Amino acid sequence: MSVAVDFVPQLRSRGYRMTPQRMAILHVLQLAGRHLSPSEVYERAQGELPNLTEPTVYRTLEFLAENGLVRPAFMGNGHLVYEIARHEHHHLKCRNCGREMEVKHALLAKLYRQLENASGYRLTDSHITFFGLCPDCQKGK
Ligand SMILES: [Zn+2]
Ligand SMILES: [Zn+2]
Repeated sequence: MSVAVDFVPQLRSRGYRMTPQRMAILHVLQLAGRHLSPSEVYERAQGELPNLTEPTVYRTLEFLAENGLVRPAFMGNGHLVYEIARHEHHHLKCRNCGREMEVKHALLAKLYRQLENASGYRLTDSHITFFGLCPDCQKGK
């Protein structure tokens, strides 16, 4: 069953309707099971909704992110990618070979609390990309 249907109550509770555009984009991200750039979303969603335009995809992704249905993440070089909101996680990305790894939020939960206590801020962005060198690249393979 498409996840897009699961999101209908979430939108409705915020006073929004599920539209064909929102449905198609959620479906594309669900099928991908990973991050997609807005242009990748556009290419794939066109198959489901032929009259979709690229600006609509950008606007819809922003809308879905504001409402917590998808998560945006910066993957370096100013590139923003999106994925369906599921368990809380972060990313590690190797600067050398581009390999990516997912990090459970539980690993960072303590750090988040410490940072909140020290700063008085409440952290709202829980989807961070850390950059470094993967084990293979450290060995110079
Ligand atoms: Zn992610
Ligand atoms: Zn690497």
